[in-house]
Amino acid sequence: MLRQYELVERVKEYDPSADEALLNRAYVYTVQKHGTQKRASGDPYFSHPVEVAGLMTDLQLDQETIITALLHDTVEDTLATIEDVETNFGEEVARLVDGVTKLSKIEAMPENERAAENLRKFLLAMSEDIRVLLVKLGDRLHNMRTLHFIKSPEKRQRIARETMDIYAPLAERVGMYEYMREMQLLAMEQLEPEAYKTITGRLEQIRRQDGGQVDAIALAIKQALAEARLKVEVTGREKHPYSIWKKMAERHLPFEQVTDIMAFRVITESEADCYAALGVLHRVWQFIPGRFKDYLSTPKTNGYRSLHTSLIYENSMRVEVQIRTREMHQTNEFGLAAHWAYKQGDRPDGQVGWLRDLIEIVDASHDAEELLEHTRLAIYQDRIFAFTPKGALHQLPKGSTPVDFAFAVHTDLGAQTVGAKINGRHMPLRTPLGNGDVVEIIKGKTAEPQLSWLGFVVTGKARAAIRRAVRLKERAEVAEIGKKLFDEIALRVPAKIGKKAIRDAVKRLELEDEEELMYAIGAAKIEDREVMEALVPGCTAEMEQPEEWGRQESAISIRGLTAGVGFQLAECCHPVPGDRIVGLRKPGEGVEVHAIDCLELASGIDADWLDLSWGQRSTGAIGRLRATLYDRPGALAEMAGVFGQNMANIRSLEQAETEHPFAVYEVDLEVQDLAHLTRILSALRASDAVAQAERI
Ligand code: MN
Repeated sequence: MLRQYELVERVKEYDPSADEALLNRAYVYTVQKHGTQKRASGDPYFSHPVEVAGLMTDLQLDQETIITALLHDTVEDTLATIEDVETNFGEEVARLVDGVTKLSKIEAMPENERAAENLRKFLLAMSEDIRVLLVKLGDRLHNMRTLHFIKSPEKRQRIARETMDIYAPLAERVGMYEYMREMQLLAMEQLEPEAYKTITGRLEQIRRQDGGQVDAIALAIKQALAEARLKVEVTGREKHPYSIWKKMAERHLPFEQVTDIMAFRVITESEADCYAALGVLHRVWQFIPGRFKDYLSTPKTNGYRSLHTSLIYENSMRVEVQIRTREMHQTNEFGLAAHWAYKQGDRPDGQVGWLRDLIEIVDASHDAEELLEHTRLAIYQDRIFAFTPKGALHQLPKGSTPVDFAFAVHTDLGAQTVGAKINGRHMPLRTPLGNGDVVEIIKGKTAEPQLSWLGFVVTGKARAAIRRAVRLKERAEVAEIGKKLFDEIALRVPAKIGKKAIRDAVKRLELEDEEELMYAIGAAKIEDREVMEALVPGCTAEMEQPEEWGRQESAISIRGLTAGVGFQLAECCHPVPGDRIVGLRKPGEGVEVHAIDCLELASGIDADWLDLSWGQRSTGAIGRLRATLYDRPGALAEMAGVFGQNMANIRSLEQAETEHPFAVYEVDLEVQDLAHLTRILSALRASDAVAQAERI
């Protein structure tokens, strides 16, 4: 562990103006606050913040960052408060410590890659100051270095997984490749212990066999470049076990087939020398086409700059070579942190997404002031990140409210929202959410989206869902009115209207369902008369008929008979006015009037056939029909009710047969005419009690 004076000396080395007394106070403060707390290693707890501070001195960060590193766990893990930190170390340090403390509280385990990406963005957005993130990354790196002291394998796995998924990519994002590689390696040791052992073992073996192969190649490169009068530094190393393993996994290769496991770095004195060196190497050794990358003229988005090429050494060995200046190297390995070495003056307020502009900064400017302008993390300023009470993270546009949040979690949750708690406190639904807010949606079973929400929601998803719900609600209200109107219409048709009649009516009107029928009625898209016709086809014709039929006498006249000849309506076919009829003359009995399709006519083939028709205004006859009822109580009464509603008297009623679940009746009915009888049949068919009805 670094001693107090060592730490202070390290800072003074690169920043002679650092406040020695303040650094000492911070060191003593963390030692006192953590007191007798212990690490899993058995070391005193304060060794951890001191080591993290040491890591920050490697990056040559300013004294506020060093102090923040020293204090980073005091507010979280000791009795110290943020106010206390501010009193002792000032507003800036307090803000930084607060930032690191907030990041540490985030323990959501991402379930998939998208969630992990969200969490990374969130961490970036939360670290309003790059220094917060740097301390957090240093904190994580030190925890990974001491991970093996933790006894619980589950805990080790969890931390390693989190490091692999969240922190290593974050380190990469801000260009801290050194941190990224070490984190990956330490995490791999936990997560893929077999692969880790095998690969490190094989690398060890190669090192012993080839003894100094790396050094020999490095020397050869250096000599070739020296001959071209280029002053360079060359370092070589075996590739990182994690990147070898990744390559094996991605390309399904055994270890032996992973080539270029050696990588060399050429550090030049100027940018022009980078290209010159590249030219020399490509002349001396064969290079592999397609492997050459120029990140010098086109840097990576995180500011990484270098030339990459792969050479074939001694006709067989593929070696990777990276060429860059010393300054680029610093930036590449430690990202923006490298620039903090040159920090001077006060930080301006300007907030610009530094990642976006990093390329420009590194490329065009070495002005400290301008650089500082870009150091506040503002990349995700148009987004906010909020949590469910269970810790699931949701990314939303800035200005989003609890209603947006609820719809982002689930459409149903949005629809049931009645209230919200933000960080445990009841807040209005229109409250804009802040980064890191924990949002608890209060649900009501009968709740429904409100039109007024459209005034403040910002996400398209919420907007669309609210509009849709409001539309549906309006529709339901119209259908409700339609239902009332329908009940009145149903009373006007000569049948008892139940589910079946409605179902058939829906079908006849070619509508989707009962709801649509009610909506159509409510919205006056359909006339009463149409509904009635759909329920009981033909029933509206009756409206034009006198309703007093029941009291009228039957009045039948037949045309086509010789005057004075008597006639009777045949009892086999029960013709009614409107049927086509013929007469059979039977000696001594007068004329029998049959319906033209009567089967009895066949037996009277020898008799005299008379072509007859009904006299005008003929009305009143007995019609016979067969009705198949569902065999249940009340079915018969319902059928009788239909006859009553239609002003038809029953002359006789016989149960023909019963075959569960049906009861079949034959009914003789006194009706006006064929139209009347047809209406009755159609009313019967509309009845829930009736399975079938036909004339016989
Ligand atoms: Mn810590």
